[in-house]
This record gives sequence, structure tokens and C-alpha cells, in this order.
Amino acid sequence: QGYLSNITSKNTDLNALSEVYEEEALVQAAEVQEKINNGSAGRLAGMVITIKDVYCHNGHTLQSASKILDGFKSQFTATPIQRLLDEDAIIIGRNNCDEFAMGSSNENSVYGPVKNAVGKNKVPGGSSGGSAVAVQAEMCLVSIGSDTGGSVRQPASFCGVIGFKPTYGRISRHGLTAYASSFDCVGVLAHSVEDTALVLEIAAGPDEYDHTVSTTNVPAYSKAPEWAEKFSVVSFENINSHEAIDSAVKQSVDRVFDKIETLGNRIHKVDFTYLNYVLPTYYILTTAEASANLSRFDGVKYGYRTENAKDLDSMYRKTRTEGFGEEVVKRILLGTYVLSEGFYDAYYTKAQKVRRLIRDEMKSLLENNDFIIMPTAPTPAFDLNSHDRNPLEMYLEDIFTVQASLAGLPCISIPNGTDENGLPIGIQVICNSFEEEKLLSFSKYLK
Ligand code: GLN
Repeated sequence: QGYLSNITSKNTDLNALSEVYEEEALVQAAEVQEKINNGSAGRLAGMVITIKDVYCHNGHTLQSASKILDGFKSQFTATPIQRLLDEDAIIIGRNNCDEFAMGSSNENSVYGPVKNAVGKNKVPGGSSGGSAVAVQAEMCLVSIGSDTGGSVRQPASFCGVIGFKPTYGRISRHGLTAYASSFDCVGVLAHSVEDTALVLEIAAGPDEYDHTVSTTNVPAYSKAPEWAEKFSVVSFENINSHEAIDSAVKQSVDRVFDKIETLGNRIHKVDFTYLNYVLPTYYILTTAEASANLSRFDGVKYGYRTENAKDLDSMYRKTRTEGFGEEVVKRILLGTYVLSEGFYDAYYTKAQKVRRLIRDEMKSLLENNDFIIMPTAPTPAFDLNSHDRNPLEMYLEDIFTVQASLAGLPCISIPNGTDENGLPIGIQVICNSFEEEKLLSFSKYLK
């Protein structure tokens, strides 16, 4: 009831939820109460969550914030969502997001932009902007977003909440709308490390429907103690003093390193060799994968179909032209280009090689050090409509988040102060593959 009343008073303005399951959530809550009374409640009993509009949820609308999925309803529930439901989580609504999770400001949505609850006409970040604002504005306790290149961490940073991306392959993607399949991760937005850990523990692990999920043991993340040992952390000097970084963000990162040093821990200072290549590599590979993944939306199988077709060919063409938004069209075109004969080796193959170099360098540093710390985003939340003319400016917002995604490493964004106008700032911590337990322990120590 509390969350519903927050939704009623705030969602018209913030636009964080594109659908509220009021009646259903109350029925679910009553059932959970019953189970609590008779001692059969699951481990998430009473945890009210929202899910990003990219997850299948049986019988419910799934639109990926796109016109092309107009009228589509899921016929099954995504594995991670089902696992949370099986432990008695209550889903109160579906989050607005960027169309097909493409964006860094949540302004590319058929439902209109989401607003950051700090006010001042700021974006919430993207693409899981609706998820971040739902947690920020207490419309739910936890939200399930998705993170391909920063979509959970960057909005978490802009909204002052925790954003967590596990190792690639830790949580099943079955039922998550594919954007770039070799990057896509299920992510968690929450206020506390404890809630994040519990949700991860329940959602993670093998799934017969997704064979990219690792069979690596799922530890009891929720029992991870606060970090208590000395440690060694990598500081990428060319990142932490990058010219695009706002001064308040710089101060926030410096504060963390000062504390680490004062307490007698080791800081390994080094430049990241491939910094200039992370964004081009990310945008070549993800647009390539997106152009293939989005070919399924053809007017035949899902959602929207044009009414102006003369024949099959014009039906495909018009459906896609009318159904996809501008950013999505741009990425399909870029992706098709880099995959086309004649350009494939120059762009796609080359980018795959660079991806491997990036991953190897990160992993080798993490063999000898415990953590990498850097800003989540170069700036705090920016103004609505301020980046809509220059796409490169918008892509620059992802400069620090795509690195962990290219390497498939687990990463968390933790709130770390505000700027002089009260805008939240987050810092990122990265760990080696499948070291989520260590990352969560360390997050408790830092927070
Ligand atoms: N902003 C990045 C992009 O547009 C990240 C998106 C994401 O992680 N889904 O690709």
C-alpha cells in the first residue's frame, strides 16, 4: 500500500513505470501474508520489486519501450523473474526504459522520457532509468534492470542508488529481450548491498534454457561479510584524471582513493592501454549484434504491423520503418554496415580482436590486484534534451561503463556523495570473473 501510494503521487510526473499492477500486487501481497502466517513464505516474502520493460512476464505486456511491440504479451516468464516470484517477491509494475535498452538518458521511449526524482529537469540516466527512479522514489524496494554497456550502473549513479552487473553468464538471459547477446546481463538496482546480494543469490545459476549460463557454484552471496583484510586496488591514471570528468566526480573518486591509502592499502597506478578504443569497440560489436537480434521484429511474429502494406516486402519495410524509433534505426543501420561484406573484417573482426585485448589486460591486472575503482560516469545527471543533437556526446557518457561489459566482468556502482547542487555521484568497483562475493563484501566496506 505504501509503494502504491508513492506511485500514485509521483509516477505521473516521473514516468518511471509504464504499467502498474495494482490489483495483482495486492492479491499477491495477501497471499504472501497468508504464507508468512503459516510459516511457508519464501526468502523474498514481501520484497516489492519492479521489472524493466525488457523481461517476459507471462500474460503481461512486454514492449521494450517500442512501438514495434505494440500489443505484445509474454507467453512465459523470464527465468530470473520466475526465480524471484518463486521466493515470493511481489511485482508492482513494469519500468519505462530506453527503446530496446539503447540509450544513456531514458529519453528514447515510446512512453516518453523518465525524470530523475532529484528534480531540476535532469535525466535519470539509461537505459534502466525507470528502474533507477522507481527505487530512488520508493515506488519499490528493488528493481530488475538490464546492463549491456552500463544501463544499470549509470542510472544508479545518476539517481543515488546501487547498480549491480554480475559476471556475464552468472544469471540466465532466458526471457530477456536480446540487445547484444554477448554483453547482455541481468542487473539489480537497490538501496542496500544486502538486498542486492540476496536477489543475485536467488536469480543466479544454471538454466536449461540458456546455455551461456555458467555452472560455477552460486555462493551464499547474502552471507558475504563486510571486507576486513588489506587489499590492492588498481587506479587507471588516464581514466581517473580524464578530461571529460566533472570536478565533483573527480573529488568523489579522490576521496575514495585517499581513504584507501590512509588505511594502508596498496594502490597500483597504471594507464589503461586501450582507453581510446573502448567506445568504438563497444558500439561496433553491440550494433552488429543488435542488427541481427532485431531482425525478428518483422510484423509477422510480434506486436505491431503496418496498415499500409501492398505486398510482403512493403509490409516488412513499412512495419520496421514505422515501428522502430530513431536511435534503434541508427543502430540497425550501423550494425548492418559493420557486418556487410567488404567491411566485416575491417570493423567487426577487428573489434573482436580489440575486445580480447581489453579483456586480457583487465583480467591480468585483476590476477595481481583485488579491485579496479573508477567513476561510473564522467558527470552527474545532465539536463533533459541536452544531448539530443550529437549522438557522440551521448555515447561518451558510457566511456567508463562499457569497459567491464567488454571484459564480461562483475561491477557495481555505489553512491559516493553529491555535487554542489545535490546531484548524486556513483563510483564503480570491478572484480575478476565470478568474484561477486568479494565485490559485495568490499561494497559493504566502502558504503
Ligand atoms: N548506453 C549504452 C547503450 O546505449 C548501454 C545500454 C545498455 O547497457 N543497455 O548501448
